[in-house]
Amino acid sequence: MPEDTVFGKIARGELPADIVYADDDLVAFRDLSPQAPTHVLVIPRKPIATLNDAGPEDAELIGRLFLAAAKIAQQEGFAEDGYRTVVNCNANGGQTVFHLHLHLLGGRPLHWPPG
Ligand code: 5GP
Repeated sequence: MPEDTVFGKIARGELPADIVYADDDLVAFRDLSPQAPTHVLVIPRKPIATLNDAGPEDAELIGRLFLAAAKIAQQEGFAEDGYRTVVNCNANGGQTVFHLHLHLLGGRPLHWPPG
């Protein structure tokens, strides 16, 4: 069992969050420190620490993270304008919370390449 994190606590309802989507396998909630007008984190309830720790058995779950992000982008009204999905991994990727999560950023033009 990977170390518990704030996201594990949010997934179990032990810490509050502004939840925008939830089902049996996933939870999505607004980032505390938004980097765009909409910044949502989509996480699996299963506590996978990093993308490196995902296995073939997680392939469908990881696909569902992306499909949930696309659905939330529709709900938030910026699917057609466009948005970004990001998974940070470990130190060089800038990962700070070690529970796999997909960032969904939208509502303004986003620069590329990122810094
Ligand atoms: P990472 O840098 O690991 O890819 O992203 C972690 C994200 O989680 C950051 O954008 C940070 O603002 C957000 N975050 C950290 N702690 C909390 C929290 O307790 N609640 C919420 N909603 N977001 C958090």
